[in-house]
Amino acid sequence: MLELRTVTAGYDRRTPVVRDATLTVTAGEAVGLLGPSGCGKSTLARVAALLHRPDAGEVVLDGIPVHHYRHRAPRDRRTAVGVVFQQPRLSADPRLRLTDLIAEPLRATGRRSSVPGRVAELAETVGLTPDLLTRRPHEVSDGQLQRACVARALVLRPRWLICDEMTAMLDASTTAALVRVVEDYRTDTGAGLLAVGHDRTLLNRWCDRTVHWDTVTASAAKTLA
Ligand code: ADP
Ligand code: ADP
Repeated sequence: MLELRTVTAGYDRRTPVVRDATLTVTAGEAVGLLGPSGCGKSTLARVAALLHRPDAGEVVLDGIPVHHYRHRAPRDRRTAVGVVFQQPRLSADPRLRLTDLIAEPLRATGRRSSVPGRVAELAETVGLTPDLLTRRPHEVSDGQLQRACVARALVLRPRWLICDEMTAMLDASTTAALVRVVEDYRTDTGAGLLAVGHDRTLLNRWCDRTVHWDTVTASAAKTLA
């Protein structure tokens, strides 16, 4: 289970962006988190992806609390969670060819020998041709770059996947293709998914259940009332 327990987080302690958020994703489950722009979804997604330390509350992965690490969570915890952001151009190193972008987490964790096979396999999965793999981010479309970002998120076979507005910049056919990739991965591996977004129709179609931001942070609303 991926558990967020009464998480409070933000960018300055006096004005938290997320207050007392509680949310659980069970292994194999797809949970949609729905809310208006600016409410704090991305911040909570970064907390769940172990990229942002909460000011209070707990992040628990399969029973092990992981929120308290001073800086980054240890490698085996970080690699347990894959993450895809809304804007591929902000999350992709502009200097890397797509093939190296996808391979980066393998190299960073000392798995060089599996790079060629794994990159080829994932390129096919996400629909990137060998020609596209040799290009740099500015030489491909947003959709092609997001395909590479999804491949990178899956390359270490994470048990949890966080998709933060993954399809907001994409056309309908790329959206459908990448949702399919994530769903196939989830079916094959039993990974859990947290899909964050503002599109109710998409999240309802994609996920087993969809929770609204106000429900997730209900205890905070009650306290303030
Ligand atoms: P959402 O994903 O729901 O649109 P965000 O988590 O991105 O919401 O943002 C919630 C609030 O936090 C907004 O008011 C935003 O301006 C603020 N915020 C987001 N990122 C930062 C940051 N790096 N530094 C300071 N404030 C931020
Ligand atoms: P805090 O500084 O409050 O602990 P931060 O959000 O600044 O929380 O990030 C915690 C740690 O995660 C920092 O050491 C930072 O370098 C690292 N980190 C933040 N964003 C990323 C990212 N996108 N990829 C890898 N590490 C990141």
